[in-house]
Amino acid sequence: MHTHLSQPLALSPRYRARVWGGHAFTSHFGRQLPAGLLAGKDPVGESWELCDFPVGNPDDESARTAVFGGLHDGRTLQELRHAYGKELMGDLRGNPATNGFPLLLKYLDASAALSVQVHPSPAYAAAHPQAHLKSEAWFIVDCKPGAVIHKGLKPGVGAADLRKALALNRDDAVVPLMQTVPVAPGDCHHLPSGTCHALGAGILVAEIQTPSDTTFRVYDWGRVGRQLHVEQALACIDFSGQPLPPATRAATGPGRTTMVDCEFFRTFHVRLAAGEALAAPDDRRPVAWMVIAGEMTASNGHRFHAGDTLLWPAAAKKRSAKAGSGGAAVLETVFPRHAGLQKNLAAGVHP
Ligand SMILES: [Zn+2]
Repeated sequence: MHTHLSQPLALSPRYRARVWGGHAFTSHFGRQLPAGLLAGKDPVGESWELCDFPVGNPDDESARTAVFGGLHDGRTLQELRHAYGKELMGDLRGNPATNGFPLLLKYLDASAALSVQVHPSPAYAAAHPQAHLKSEAWFIVDCKPGAVIHKGLKPGVGAADLRKALALNRDDAVVPLMQTVPVAPGDCHHLPSGTCHALGAGILVAEIQTPSDTTFRVYDWGRVGRQLHVEQALACIDFSGQPLPPATRAATGPGRTTMVDCEFFRTFHVRLAAGEALAAPDDRRPVAWMVIAGEMTASNGHRFHAGDTLLWPAAAKKRSAKAGSGGAAVLETVFPRHAGLQKNLAAGVHP
């Protein structure tokens, strides 16, 4: 059968300046940032790798990811979805809240800690049509020795405790209420929407998440100028004390490790020996690869380097690539078919 989407789609990153950003996109991935990007007052903190919804202002379409190179150079994922439908998506449905591709992929380069924040709980999202669930996973690509994340509140911490600590507006009041977890490259942490969290300083992460830009900030480490949303956050934070999904760790040798298996996406870490081939699963749905180390050559000859993100269309033939002479590591994200997701979609619960 003829298809317009027989090749892997190389995705063009969109950078965002952030007060906590750094220089890891250049130093770790060897990227050349577009000229003029560093002229702003804040360094680059985020590289949006795959995004298919307007962010912030609903009229701002500039966040949507475009393809670079090949037959579809410059076309956005939205354009390709509209033009080719099932050839891109198979039977995968768009996200009902954003009406776009049901995944958001980014890199975050935190040279300083990100705000303590929460994304809408399922109950809050159901009651507020403008607020969308954001379940996210952080794969630690690189970090400084001693780097930590803050992952959930300590058991027993209630809304009143948190409110009191936030009123004091000091690190030594807020941090002791949170679970502080040391991280190392290869670790992955899953943060379901509703989890109070903060990414610590000195960490480069690959972030896999449901498409949403709803963040309620409660504490910004004494920085001034960014708005806090304490009341909305307190309405969303999970105070149940239920344990969070445990960290997973990528295998150090060649092979595949499950990093996250949640109702919205499933992410694997695959480490390849020199010359070893990786085939995307034959599930007739799109598959996203973030090449996090080494180099890969796809079946069409296109070469991908560490830091590159690509999307295999559902209809692409020969969805495979071969690692270069130094081996490679890939984060592969696929979409589960189980009943939970379909049920939530049918009920209008926004992933
Ligand atoms: Zn977050």
